[in-house]
Amino acid sequence: DLLVVGSANADLVIGVERRPDAGETVLGSDLVVHPGGKGANQAVAAARLGARTALLARVGDDAHGRLLLDSQRAAGVDTAGVLVGGAPTGVALITVDPSGDNSIVVSPGANGRLTPDDVRAAGSLLHAAKVVSTQLEIPLETVVEVVRSLAPDSRLVLNPSPPQPLPDEVLAACDPLILNEHEAKVILGEAYAGEKPEDWARLLLAKGPRSVVVTLGGEGALVASSEGVSRIPAVKVRAVDTTGAGDSFTAALAWRLGLGESLSDAAAYAARVGAATATRKGAQVSFPTAQEVAAL
Ligand code: ADP
Repeated sequence: DLLVVGSANADLVIGVERRPDAGETVLGSDLVVHPGGKGANQAVAAARLGARTALLARVGDDAHGRLLLDSQRAAGVDTAGVLVGGAPTGVALITVDPSGDNSIVVSPGANGRLTPDDVRAAGSLLHAAKVVSTQLEIPLETVVEVVRSLAPDSRLVLNPSPPQPLPDEVLAACDPLILNEHEAKVILGEAYAGEKPEDWARLLLAKGPRSVVVTLGGEGALVASSEGVSRIPAVKVRAVDTTGAGDSFTAALAWRLGLGESLSDAAAYAARVGAATATRKGAQVSFPTAQEVAAL
C-alpha cells in the first residue's frame, strides 16, 4: 500500500574526544555500523507500525548493501524493488564528540545511481501504491520521474531533505509537502518571511502543494491545506534522542493517509510515532510498533 522511493545508507559511527584538524589523526571508539538513509528509515518505520510497505532504492553489491537488505526484510519490507550494484552502497561517516555534536560526511554512492529509468522499470510497484513517499537523498530527476509515474489515484508525500529548490511540477504533486523550518527556508528562498510557522506554512502552500505539514520537534507540528492551518500538539515524552523522529513521523503520516484518514488525524498519529521515536536512542532501532504507539 505504501511505496517508499529513496536512499539507503550505512551509518558508520565513531565517538571521538575531538575532531581531527587537517593533516591530523585522532583515535576514536569502536566503530558502530547502523542501517540508515531516509528512504530505508521510512520503510522500516512504516513496516514496524504494520503498514504493507515496499522500498524502491539502490544499494551496492557489498556488505553494507546486505546489511540494509537484511534490516528491511527483518522489518517486513518488500525488497523486490531494491536494486543492487552500479556503485558502492551509500555511506554516512559520522563522528560524535562528547557533547553529542555530530560531524557527517555522506557518500551517496548507489543512491546517486537510482535513475529515472529505474523508476520507469518499477511501474508495477508504483501502480500498486496508494501512497508514495520520497525524499531528496536520490537524484532530483529521479524524484521528477516518480511524480510523472504516479498512478492517477495515488498520493505523493515528499520530505525535501536535504533541501533544494524544487520545480513547480514536483511542488504541485505534493500532498503533503512535509518539512521542518530549515527545509522551509531553502524551499522558500527569498520568499521566506514571517515570525510564526503558520506564516511560512501559508507561503509554502502558495507555491503549489495541495497540503503542507511542518514538523516542529518538541513543539509538535502544523498542517496547512485549503481548509486552513492548524496545530498538532506534541505528545509529551522524555526525549532521549530525536534521530529518526522526522523519518518515522513521515512514514506514519503516509501510511495513515493511505488508510483514508484526514490530514489532521494522520498528523496527530504521526506525532505520537515521532514522540515515541524520540524516547529511544538510534534511528531504526527506535521506531515503535503500533502497540507501543497505543501505549504512549
Ligand atoms: P526533523 O528531524 O525532520 O526536523 P522533528 O525533529 O521535527 O523532525 O520531529 C518530527 C516529529 O516528531 C515532530 O513534529 C514531533 O511530532 C515529534 N517529535 C520530535 N521530537 C519530539 C519531542 N522532543 N517530543 C515530542 N515529540 C517530538
